[in-house]
Amino acid sequence: MVPLAALIKEEARSEKLERPLLRYGCASQSKKGEDFFLMKTDCVRVTGNPSSTFAVFAVLDGHNGNAAAIYTRDNLLNHVLSAVPRGLSRDEWLHALPRALVAGFVKTDKEFQTKGQTSGTTVTFVIIDGWTVTVASVGDSRCILDSQGGAVSLLTVDHRLEENVEERERVTASGGEVGRLSIVGGAEIGPLRCWPGGLCLSRSIGDIDVGEFIVPIPYVKQVKLSTAGGRLIIASDGIWDALSSESAAKSCHGLPAELAARQVVKEALRTRGLKDDTTCIVVDIIPPDRSVKPPQPPPKKMNKFKSFILGKRSKEPANKLAKKLSSVGIVEELFEEGSAMLAERLGTESSGGTTTSSGLFTCAICQVDLAPSEGVSVHAGSIFSTSSKPWEGPFLCSDCRDKKDAMEGKRPSGVKVL
Ligand SMILES: [Zn+2]
Repeated sequence: MVPLAALIKEEARSEKLERPLLRYGCASQSKKGEDFFLMKTDCVRVTGNPSSTFAVFAVLDGHNGNAAAIYTRDNLLNHVLSAVPRGLSRDEWLHALPRALVAGFVKTDKEFQTKGQTSGTTVTFVIIDGWTVTVASVGDSRCILDSQGGAVSLLTVDHRLEENVEERERVTASGGEVGRLSIVGGAEIGPLRCWPGGLCLSRSIGDIDVGEFIVPIPYVKQVKLSTAGGRLIIASDGIWDALSSESAAKSCHGLPAELAARQVVKEALRTRGLKDDTTCIVVDIIPPDRSVKPPQPPPKKMNKFKSFILGKRSKEPANKLAKKLSSVGIVEELFEEGSAMLAERLGTESSGGTTTSSGLFTCAICQVDLAPSEGVSVHAGSIFSTSSKPWEGPFLCSDCRDKKDAMEGKRPSGVKVL
């Protein structure tokens, strides 16, 4: 992570550069009707200030019904934005986003649980502000970056029990069981799933019937592109079960965004047929001083480099990939955090205010006002409990504290501590 001071200095230097143009398109083939997407390019950070525009793109892949995906598409953005403190400069706003994304994901999950619906959804949620791309994701809908230098990198991790040993250990430690489906005769088939519920994912929004250890806490990554720009491909597993990151990027080189999205879907269907809902968003981030030109095939000399950062469902940790990328000056990594522990994700009071202008404390997740005696520190009663931390913010209301304990396996969902 780059220190804030360095970040601000860098921003000040690049403020002279114009903001990039965005060109984007989406394509989808439905099998079960559970994939959804969001493309919104007219969001503003400061009301009434058109120069504070930012864009949001999201892919949501629902399971056991579409209610969680639709609810998340319609509410997550507002929940994230309401978790960003007011009156921040652009740099402060960007710096506050990772934490606001965590709060927004958890709030959306918590609210959806009150609807009495049993579905769940993956979410890959991308905020583009200038050259800075912030991605938050739960589940296995990937976002990849094809930079102009010709390197393809993964901006998400796959929260699949089969491929993520850390997540398997977390789920087991929180009271879930991980195993394969058994068929008659005792043979085990298919990918690793968690029980009860039988979900293959280790994180999602919704899934009230599966268990609170399937958490909505997103992996978050924030990168700054070079002014050469790049292409983002955000897609559901209908694409990634058929194509590696590299072949998805390669299949649409040279095409404008809208055609590119269609081409990636077509390529996935050609490889594997329509086995699952298949959705793909392509976003080109284009320097303003150049004619609109989609990413070109990389020069041959990049191939050696590419070959060791790529791979289908690569198990290489994303931070290692990012370091390699930043070492060749393609992207600058600003933030990366994937922990499933809320206390580690909400930070301390000093890293972002949670008091309102009226001096009241607010809940770091749902933003309700708290009386000074009411809030429980996010650090209280956790392994982070030290002599001083239980009194440090950020604070949670009693509802969100219950949610936190349930996600950590400390008590069943919905059981309150009196
Ligand atoms: Zn709350």
